[in-house]
Amino acid sequence: MMTTMAKVGAARIRESFLEHFGEPELIVRGPGRVNLIGEHTDYNLGFVLPAAVDKAIWLAMSPRADGRCRFHSVDLNESCEVDLKDLARSEHHWANYLLGVITEFLADGRSLGGVDCAFGGDVPIGSGMSSSAALECGFAFGLNELFDLGYDRLALARLGQRAENRYVGVACGIMDQFASLLGREGRLIRLDCRDLSFEYAPFERSDLRVVLCDSRVRRTLAGSEYNVRRTQCETGVALLAGQYPGVKSLRDVTPAMLQAHRKELNPVVFRRCDYVVRENGRVLEACEALGRSDFEAFGALMNASHDGLRDDYEVSCAELDILVNGARTIPGVLGSRMMGAGFGGCTISLVEEGALTDFSVCMADIYRKGLGTEPRIHECRLTGGTASVE
Ligand code: ADP
Ligand code: MG
Repeated sequence: MMTTMAKVGAARIRESFLEHFGEPELIVRGPGRVNLIGEHTDYNLGFVLPAAVDKAIWLAMSPRADGRCRFHSVDLNESCEVDLKDLARSEHHWANYLLGVITEFLADGRSLGGVDCAFGGDVPIGSGMSSSAALECGFAFGLNELFDLGYDRLALARLGQRAENRYVGVACGIMDQFASLLGREGRLIRLDCRDLSFEYAPFERSDLRVVLCDSRVRRTLAGSEYNVRRTQCETGVALLAGQYPGVKSLRDVTPAMLQAHRKELNPVVFRRCDYVVRENGRVLEACEALGRSDFEAFGALMNASHDGLRDDYEVSCAELDILVNGARTIPGVLGSRMMGAGFGGCTISLVEEGALTDFSVCMADIYRKGLGTEPRIHECRLTGGTASVE
């Protein structure tokens, strides 16, 4: 069932398409995503717990037969047009997500006739809710429908990731695309990043909300520090693999194994690895807590996740800590942590419905006094994945 917000979102894009290109053949909703717990575990081949949410990008699309591709970004009010025979990178950053998707379909040997597409939505851009995956997966889903290309959702997620890795040049994992395409209403996805096996976990307490607070800090350090963390994890794995033949990634390491070799590891490398190993355990514990509807335990695990990210993995920042610490003082907040790679982006909090007003008021105060900015708070509901809409 479409909410009023979703209807408004789809209607706005449809109208813009009508203005630029005529009647659309298809309208697709591509959702953004959250990740409840499991940070920096993906590239260590561990577990994550994301979900698609009710912030989305809508794409109105029609196929063409003349090899032309005409795009219009409604939110930025920018357009561009290219030919399938000449898919050079665009000066419009956003267009490269679409061109990357087309390029990957062509690389897979699929034939496309061309396309008109107008898109826009309400996923905050660059805040870690994955507007990029919403866009590329929505577009890939639409082309798959229009040209009957025969991809399933997982194959579309992989294609979206390749588009972002190879064409846009962002070394992202697959979690964002996976969550955007395979989300389900009221469900979290327990995704195993080693083999992409997954299970839906019920998120069944109707009086709980997932609330994001955008720090508005954009991650200047994120790229370089991300690479340093990856190298530190690899260093830990290399040492432990020498001791335990079964160890291929930190996924295969237990806290006890790490402890037993603590003296051989550089102290910083130890702390990085210890965080990852424990975070993996926390995702599994969080799923168990969900199974018994123990949301207090779930919230406590989110808190522990943040504390590890702050103290051991050292990827938080002052602004995120201020938002998390503030949220935790509000009665009815079960847990709060930074979400995403770190050094900015959003925090994610689990808030009882009855506490939402207090949460908004208190957090607005914390934003103004602690961060010197106006609040940017997004309440989210867990929704289904990418789909065509009426
Ligand atoms: P995020 O955390 O939101 O995924 P990214 O930097 O990965 O941040 O992706 C953001 C990019 O995706 C933008 O710079 C833009 O190119 C594109 N994008 C996302 N949403 C929109 C939109 N509504 N309109 C135009 N471009 C968008
Ligand atoms: Mg992104």
